Amino acid sequence: MKLTLSETAAALQAARTLVLTAHVNPDGDAIGSTLGLKHVLEALGKRVTVLLDDDIPAGFAVLPGYDVIRRPAEGESIDCDLFVVLDTMTDRIGKTAEVVHAPRLLNIDHHHTNPGNNKEDLYLDASRAATCEIVYDLAKAMNATIPESAAMCLYTGLATDTGFFRFSNAAAHTYRAAADLIDAGAQPNVISEALEIKPMQTVKDLGEALAQFELFADGKAAGIFLTQEQTARMESTETFIGHIRVIDGVDVAVVLKCKEPQLCRVSMRSKRVDVSRIATQFDGGGHVRAAGCTLKLPFEEARKTIMAAIEQAIREGWIA
Ligand code: 5GP
Ligand code: MN
Repeated sequence: MKLTLSETAAALQAARTLVLTAHVNPDGDAIGSTLGLKHVLEALGKRVTVLLDDDIPAGFAVLPGYDVIRRPAEGESIDCDLFVVLDTMTDRIGKTAEVVHAPRLLNIDHHHTNPGNNKEDLYLDASRAATCEIVYDLAKAMNATIPESAAMCLYTGLATDTGFFRFSNAAAHTYRAAADLIDAGAQPNVISEALEIKPMQTVKDLGEALAQFELFADGKAAGIFLTQEQTARMESTETFIGHIRVIDGVDVAVVLKCKEPQLCRVSMRSKRVDVSRIATQFDGGGHVRAAGCTLKLPFEEARKTIMAAIEQAIREGWIA
């Protein structure tokens, strides 16, 4: 069932014990929105556990609560009043789904590709740049004070999902929320410095990846295609796509990583084409200008499949 902002705020207020989670392969918005909501709710006297079924990149150690995020353990069972899934539809949360038992599940998201379902309560606001922006709205709707710890976390998601306030999803409300969060104690420079720093090997890996990028679709698309060997060797690849997105004339940028012999992960960014439409063709999703999917194909086939899909989108003008 689709909820309003005030119904969502009421559901959070009614719960005494909550488990919060977000999508696997977590980014700044997934981590920021779960930790930020945790701090807001704890300030209201609630008991909150954050479970994330993945490793949390070390750059986020600057966020208060980083240390208490944990992975669900084998055979574990947690009871709570309310289970909250943030920044994704409820099918991308790994094993967390199996260990949490709650009479009610609440899904809070900003992805327009989230279809919801009739079993779960969904609060979806695709006009918000980040799920952290929605958590900020919810804190206001609950009349809750935003502690400094929450401000740091929520600011992080605003920053990372807008490319540090450069992408078209950053709206006036996003900047107002950011300003309020800075007033509440968020330190933008501390966050951006912590997230910018990279191990030397990652910069070397970026060099290797950039040396092999390919232009296609008459120069309107650029791709980095990493074999299983490269994917296994390279620890952090998230920033690669930003470096080919900026090439003059390129509309769609894609990074494909071969994770297993028959499984490749795809990330896409665009200037004009609706890449969420490409991703949903392959059961993925995301935003108009940032989307992803998984292809259950071997490396070469996956590479050809995604290139063909992007070429089609450009040729047919899937502009949003
Ligand atoms: P990224 O390329 O950074 O992994 O993801 C870009 C955007 O698309 C993010 O908002 C992310 O949540 C979404 N996304 C990436 N992969 C998938 C997927 O497999 N399924 C869905 N539903 N969304 C995805
Ligand atoms: Mn997000």
